[in-house]
Amino acid sequence: MIIGKSKKEIDKMRTAGQLTGLVLQELKGLAQPGVTTIEIDRAAEKMIRAAGGLPTFKGYHGFPYSICASVNEQVVHGFPSDYELKDGDIFSIDCGVTLEGFVGDTATTVLVGKVSETWRALVRATEECLDLAIEQCRPGKHLGDIGAAVQQHAEAHGYSVVREYVGHGIGRRMHEDPQIPNYGRPGQGPKIKAGYVFAVEPMINLGTHHTKVLADGWTVVTLDGKPSAHVEHTIAITEAGPEVLTRVSSEQAQMVASTTRLAPK
Ligand code: MG
Ligand code: MG
Repeated sequence: MIIGKSKKEIDKMRTAGQLTGLVLQELKGLAQPGVTTIEIDRAAEKMIRAAGGLPTFKGYHGFPYSICASVNEQVVHGFPSDYELKDGDIFSIDCGVTLEGFVGDTATTVLVGKVSETWRALVRATEECLDLAIEQCRPGKHLGDIGAAVQQHAEAHGYSVVREYVGHGIGRRMHEDPQIPNYGRPGQGPKIKAGYVFAVEPMINLGTHHTKVLADGWTVVTLDGKPSAHVEHTIAITEAGPEVLTRVSSEQAQMVASTTRLAPK
């Protein structure tokens, strides 16, 4: 069952979403060559707790960390580790924050140092897929319109769309109905209504769409070892159209970080 949210609930989700977006912006800034992904995880947990939130991922079905840290061929759910980011990596950070009972969920893929044009283009197209998907998040559209927008754009560029992992409804729990695949047919599936809140998250691969899970039981990698990009926003559907709850401008993020306890050590 898809749980519609009241205006009041969406106000709370906006606050949670903005915090999640700010944390992600900060983490993005930390993702430099020579930094380990576990350092970024620790910074995330510290920032989230300092702001009065809870790292939603930590303990979720036993997931042991505050962020998912997926480098290069890792698609999603990567474990932060002592891996040092290096020039040319693409690094996806996925972050969830619970604040006053509501969850924000957002992800970005960071270009670390000087990244090849082929890989940059993959990340760019993945971001475009998300923008196109967000445009479909309007009352009267169908769930299939979201997936179709992602799939058409990705495949038009010669990329493939991951099938096994999908976006989702979000609210008091991180994963609510419905599932939101990144593929589909226009006009298919349930109608989108005002008050729904969705986490839309294209996962786009340079090569095959097939994936496998590593021995840690979580980290998803592409089957062919080619890179994958992942971006995500939490979006409220309003009568006026989509409102991206986790989007913050980098200027806003910088200002908040420099003037509040969100600033990492
Ligand atoms: Mg996420
Ligand atoms: Mg998600």
